[in-house]
Amino acid sequence: MTTTERTPVAAPATSAPHQPAGGVNTHCPYCALQCGMTVTGKQVAPREFPTNRGGLCQKGWTSGALLDSAARLTTPLMRTGGQLRPASWDTALDHVAAKITGIQREYGPDGVAVFGGGGLTNEKAYLLGKFARVALRTSQVDYNGRFCMSSAAAAGMRAFGLDRGLPFPVTDLDEADAVLLVGANPAETMPPFMRHLDPSGLIVIDPRRTATAEQASLHLQPAPGTDLALALGILHSVVADGFLDQSYVDERTAGFEDVWRIVARWWPEHVERVTGVSAAEQRRAGAMLATARNAYLLTGRGTEQHATGADTVTAWINLALALGLPGRRGSGFGCITGQGNGQGGREHGQKADQLPGYRKIDDPAAREHVAGVWGVHPADLPGPGRSAYELLDALGEQAGPRGLLVFGSNVVVSAPHSAHVTDRLDALDMLVVADIVLSETAQRADVVLPITQWAEEEGTLTNLEGRILHRRRALAPPDGVRTDLEVLHALAGLLGQPPERFPSDPETVFAELGAASAGGPADYSGVNYPRLRAGEALHWPVPAGSDGTPRMFLDRFAHPDGRARFVPVEHVGPAESPDDDYPLRATTGRVLAHYQSGAQTRLVSELMRAVPESFVEVHPDTAARAGLCDGARATVASRRGTVCVTVRCVPSMRPDVLFLPFHFPGEQSANLLTNPALDPTSRMPEFKVCAARLEAA
Ligand code: SF4
Repeated sequence: MTTTERTPVAAPATSAPHQPAGGVNTHCPYCALQCGMTVTGKQVAPREFPTNRGGLCQKGWTSGALLDSAARLTTPLMRTGGQLRPASWDTALDHVAAKITGIQREYGPDGVAVFGGGGLTNEKAYLLGKFARVALRTSQVDYNGRFCMSSAAAAGMRAFGLDRGLPFPVTDLDEADAVLLVGANPAETMPPFMRHLDPSGLIVIDPRRTATAEQASLHLQPAPGTDLALALGILHSVVADGFLDQSYVDERTAGFEDVWRIVARWWPEHVERVTGVSAAEQRRAGAMLATARNAYLLTGRGTEQHATGADTVTAWINLALALGLPGRRGSGFGCITGQGNGQGGREHGQKADQLPGYRKIDDPAAREHVAGVWGVHPADLPGPGRSAYELLDALGEQAGPRGLLVFGSNVVVSAPHSAHVTDRLDALDMLVVADIVLSETAQRADVVLPITQWAEEEGTLTNLEGRILHRRRALAPPDGVRTDLEVLHALAGLLGQPPERFPSDPETVFAELGAASAGGPADYSGVNYPRLRAGEALHWPVPAGSDGTPRMFLDRFAHPDGRARFVPVEHVGPAESPDDDYPLRATTGRVLAHYQSGAQTRLVSELMRAVPESFVEVHPDTAARAGLCDGARATVASRRGTVCVTVRCVPSMRPDVLFLPFHFPGEQSANLLTNPALDPTSRMPEFKVCAARLEAA
């Protein structure tokens, strides 16, 4: 098929679907808690749902403002004469298809890459991965979830044989007597989650005294990049104080002796010197968990976003196994997923090493199964490609991709070492961005494709507890936009694919996803839209005929022998240490009012009034040493870049630590500073610590 032939595309609806009198029940567009909400007109209101219990955070409450934002894109844009100018869909898609064809003719299939997102629905993530492997035949596909949960996923895979963020429903936490939260700040990132935690048994490990730490009965405040050592110290104290669950270790695990050989050297007083957390606090944390009737250990991005992230999560899993928590009703270990579809997004094939159903792309049986569903020969599927940062780093280079299609990601703000990533984007022969607004990444594109957003389209997401949710279409999109599925359908057709191979109807795509996932670790084959519309609680795996799996590992773990693995890990510290030029440690995170790169929340006036700009949190003594006071303008510099932000003096900060939120662009962008040192297993960058210097602006 030539690029001038048309593939039929369903015209977007131009009138609002009939909304029932009480509105349309759906879920929040933002984080992985996926709070239940009702959309009436363009107003949102909370509704009762197990994860949020009728609550919403400020982001959720104001999410209706996105639906009539003046910044909304409603026509494709093409760069001519250096400017982005309106174009018709036919012109834009023809141009993209022609450029893809030309680039691949010159550089081969891997000359074009695809970058997805953890906020895409399951259907979009699935079709995007299929589009890359079948329509483009490129191995160069990855997504921003690599920056979010890949270290937890890698650690969970090697310990339990399977990765599901929370292998139990969130509501199980209601019965907990003790919960240890490591590197997570749900009081700001997902406030309704706090309804499931009892402050009297809450232990928080975080270098900052966060809003979550404020509510805890015990807060341990290690130096950034030392929490692996802290896990070793607490595990040492658990064993030394007689709290090892020996019968659980004997019956359900393997490898404890190898771990103990390392842990034996990390007695709490030694760990205190490395982390700054007192030996007494380490022992108290271990005892609180060990003596609780129901105890949980949960990790977040603070644990993961290190060059040793997978090992750090593993160290906490080792502690949980020693206490006998995973796979036991009323106790457990879990990782809190961040992005709205962070769980589903990493299961269905937009990851460089993966095929749908959480299958490995280098597994011959997986390739054969998925190729059969897709109607192609297994040998025609490419192998594993570059991970997210490695992909961005290679753009425009001699052996790297020359064209990039971005769906659901704003890498100019969200990628580490962002000035370098921006340079690489600018070196491309073609950058295509599909988005609802002109994000910082879209501003650099050659072609921008305007797409529908959450309440204007139907799809499924998988929340932080592995529950598959139905996102209903609540209102019609504005004229001129298309769904991502329609865009992929049209582009695939222009690239010569049969139209039926890339359906644009989400229910049809989901049915195919179910078939592709059948028999895989994340099996969705027993799920269908009628079950989801009926509100059934279906936690994967859901093989055909099953009612799902709310709690995993109760009888056995997913390794062939049914045992969980203790995995020996050593503390090595951050990839970059403070020195005379950069004497402090900068860490990054989120604030209540904003979400990820801020591309959506910076459009909401109420959220911008709450936090209109970036800042640096610093101990007053550290600020004074730099000649700064609260409210002053400061520069924070690392070996990669400099940001200019307002000082917030916070007495509870460690004197050696700076904190910056990462939601803001331009000279305030925290990722100008961050270190792209990658974890060797997960390939996750070290967002959470880099050496830095604070000065007056
Ligand atoms: Fe709930 Fe997260 Fe949305 Fe806030 S952002 S309302 S916590 S889903």
